[in-house]
Amino acid sequence: MRHLFSALFFACLLSGATLFSCRLAEQKHTPHILLITGGHEYEVEAFDRMLSELPVTYDKVAHPYAYPLLKDSEIAKYDAVLLYDMPKEIPEEAQNDFITMLRKGKGLVVLHHAFCSYDFWPEYTRIAGGRYHHYPWTKAGVEQPPSSFRHGVTFDVRVADPTHPVTQGIRDFRITDETYGGTEILPGVHPLLSTDEPTNGPLVAWSHTYENSRVVTFTLGHDSLSWTHPAFVSILSRSLCWVAESNRE
Ligand SMILES: [Zn+2]
Repeated sequence: MRHLFSALFFACLLSGATLFSCRLAEQKHTPHILLITGGHEYEVEAFDRMLSELPVTYDKVAHPYAYPLLKDSEIAKYDAVLLYDMPKEIPEEAQNDFITMLRKGKGLVVLHHAFCSYDFWPEYTRIAGGRYHHYPWTKAGVEQPPSSFRHGVTFDVRVADPTHPVTQGIRDFRITDETYGGTEILPGVHPLLSTDEPTNGPLVAWSHTYENSRVVTFTLGHDSLSWTHPAFVSILSRSLCWVAESNRE
């Protein structure tokens, strides 16, 4: 199955990023995604336009209406979840539903400001493979200042693993986007995209497994400057397709 999926990616690469299509090998359908927003403003129309061109179908829900959809009976309709939200807190019941969903292998993509969510839910660090800290934090016993952001930075992004299905065939690229500096990135994650940009941490995207789910955290994506960048669109498409493969429902 893994070979089949790799072959699919390769075939899509030959046909170009815009023609990239995603069909889940086991489920034999196009991934159906639950997009969760809320807690942070964004250009809704332009973001929706970009998503509508991806090789997936999706439903969008904003907080406070998102958490009921994480329950077993509702989330079973979806192959993966795309977070583009930024709430500070999450009720305990929703925490449990979130983790149960990931135990069942539901794929997860944490996009841009969704990396900055849930200041008071430590488990979210393990789910996202890191954390944007709004408050001082401690690393190896040493207090660190809060993380920082800067808008409109033009910087170089390198492909850290050219063999991974998410980055296969993607070349190093230059993009103008918001950077996140002084963030925490867990040591066990698999680097996908890296940068030397001093206002950003060393990684721009990584993957890892949480419970039984594939997770990709991709910190680019503040506005249409990145949403119209072919590398961004390609990486987001491939991330959604790749994490959806871990869904077993
Ligand atoms: Zn932003």
